Amino acid sequence: MLKVEHIGIAVKSFEEAIPLFEKLLDTPCYKTETVVSENVNTAFFKKGETKIELLESIDPSGVIARYIEKKGEGMHHIAFEVEEIEAEMERLKKEGFILLNEKPKTGADNKLVCFLHPKSTNSVLIELCQEIK
Ligand code: ZN
Repeated sequence: MLKVEHIGIAVKSFEEAIPLFEKLLDTPCYKTETVVSENVNTAFFKKGETKIELLESIDPSGVIARYIEKKGEGMHHIAFEVEEIEAEMERLKKEGFILLNEKPKTGADNKLVCFLHPKSTNSVLIELCQEIK
């Protein structure tokens, strides 16, 4: 793993959350992107090396909507940048971590991603991401 690439935060509405994070971080949201396969809108902010990713559900049955229903808004996941996602997935699998997808998926922000099951990571949802070259 190279570094924390971004921190994902689940929010109910971009309309409220984007201006709030723009004020908080004193920097404009530089990109919004819809990930249709995950039923989610994403909005990105950058501070130094690290990004903040806001996640808003597109529909009430989406994974983020269900998360907010159960746990409320807030910290959703930590994403680590990796050089070779398949090799890292293999390594973590061997170490006993549970992968939520067996093959890397295309995520937001030009990334291949894989999530680890929180039950194998002290209840912290971990994302691996690799820049698509
Ligand atoms: Zn993420």
